[in-house]
Amino acid sequence: MTPAPTPRPGVRDVMPYVSPQLGVKARLNTNECPYPLPDGFAEELADEVAALPLNRYPDGAMIRLREALAESVGHPVAGTWAANGSNEILAQLLQAYGGTGRRAAVFEPSYLLHPRIARLTQTEVVSLTLDNGFSLTEDRVKAAVDARPDVVFVCSPNNPTGNAQSVDAVASLAGRTTALVIVDEAYIEFGGSTCLPLVAGHPNVVVTRTMSKAFALAGARIGYALASSEVVEDLERVRLPYHLSAITQTAGIVALRHSKEAMTILDAIRAERDRIIAALRAMPGVIVHPSDANFVLFVPPKPAGEVWRRLLDHGVLIRDLSAVVPNALRVTAGSADEVDLFLSALQETMAA
Ligand code: PMP
Repeated sequence: MTPAPTPRPGVRDVMPYVSPQLGVKARLNTNECPYPLPDGFAEELADEVAALPLNRYPDGAMIRLREALAESVGHPVAGTWAANGSNEILAQLLQAYGGTGRRAAVFEPSYLLHPRIARLTQTEVVSLTLDNGFSLTEDRVKAAVDARPDVVFVCSPNNPTGNAQSVDAVASLAGRTTALVIVDEAYIEFGGSTCLPLVAGHPNVVVTRTMSKAFALAGARIGYALASSEVVEDLERVRLPYHLSAITQTAGIVALRHSKEAMTILDAIRAERDRIIAALRAMPGVIVHPSDANFVLFVPPKPAGEVWRRLLDHGVLIRDLSAVVPNALRVTAGSADEVDLFLSALQETMAA
């Protein structure tokens, strides 16, 4: 038998992405929306999908979806782009602006996929740190500029810490570098100020967003970018032909028709998030970080791995982020029942 083929150097330094998808009572580990889609959405989607000519390739330019997205956020269509989740947007951006001999700066702790996608596109990663409150200060901006990157990632609200960054700090960064500044706004519907107004004056800024969280559409895989038309033209060069299926495009268009109803659930999610924060603050020895997102990062007074395992025994799955922030755990703001279950399981774990 011939030996298995060898990938290019670096591929085997990266582990396959795995996130546990367990059939537990409360799945609070991936920041999904706990509520089903708005009434009428599923029927409308089924009808529209049934009418699609699936023997034909989809609209490669994704025009109807891009127009609907552009209108919903008030951004030009020529600067609006869509892909299979915002992770694919990030991968396309790195394909165009990263690569061999290019450098991407990340502010840590942040979303692990940013350095991962950079590495997988053979982009050198420069790791910078956020300040003590996990914020992007002028001092941190200077460090990024000094690193002479080609791409800089900012995540606001930041995953996993939860806090949003100041638009002024991002504006300062964008004005002092020619690098592509990617502002990952996956959680912007839950809090914080958007950096979208910066795009008009700074064509090196791209805002990436997703329908996986606030729109309750993680299963549909729809992400989008709001950028200058020049950036979108570069994405047109690197994307695979017809990368977004007709079914996905239709799901996005139908979702945007229901966006008002989708946004009404945000208040309930924010209320659950704030209830988690208040309850955790009342627990002795627990450090809780403020959150503008639909999740909360906290540090328990016991080993995080042990707490994570005990919660799982109670049917509550959260995320152990101790590899990113010392001894930290992250919990998604789920439904009221899920949050009740999480809080009572945590109380018991702390008392044990
Ligand atoms: N950015 C951030 C900060 C995220 O947390 C996530 C999802 N965990 C994504 C992007 C990717 O989301 P999706 O690919 O589902 O749009």
